[in-house]
Amino acid sequence: MRVGIGYDSHRFVAGRPLILGGITIPHDKGLDGWSDADVVAHALTDAILGGAGLGDIGRLFPPHDPRYRGANSIELLSKATVKAIEAGHPPQQADITVIVERPKLAPHIAAMEARLAEAIIVGAMEVSVKAKTNEGMGWIGRGEGVAAIAVCVLG
Ligand code: MG
Repeated sequence: MRVGIGYDSHRFVAGRPLILGGITIPHDKGLDGWSDADVVAHALTDAILGGAGLGDIGRLFPPHDPRYRGANSIELLSKATVKAIEAGHPPQQADITVIVERPKLAPHIAAMEARLAEAIIVGAMEVSVKAKTNEGMGWIGRGEGVAAIAVCVLG
C-alpha cells in the first residue's frame, strides 16, 4: 500500500466561476489561476502523483504552458490517474478537506465526491470530501481564497 498527500491554495478573484471538485458552485467570485483553478482537484492530483512517486502537478502540467490555459482540472486529474495506474499504483481511496469561509459547500459535497471518484476510477464510496471554515482566522478567514488538503491511498 502507498499513500500520497497533496495541498493547494488559490486566491479569490472577481469575474471567474468557482469550480471545486469539478463542480461549478454559485458564488460572487471564483479562483484565480492558469487552469480553472480547481484547488480540490489540484490537491488530489498531487496526492496521487506523490503516492505513485511521479512528482507533482507542476512537473506534469507546467503552469504558463499554453496547453493548460483554462484547463479543466478534472481532466488533469484523470491524466494523473492514468499515469499512476501505468506505474502500477492505482488510486484506491481518497480523503479531502477543503478549507473555505464562504460559500457553504454542504449542498455540493455529494456531487464533488461523485465527480472526483469517476475521475480517479474508484467507487463512489471511496472518495470523501469535507468542508471546514477557518473560524474567521487568517487569509482564509478573511475570504481571500481557498485551500485544500488531500490524502490518497494507492495500490
Ligand atoms: Mg493549483
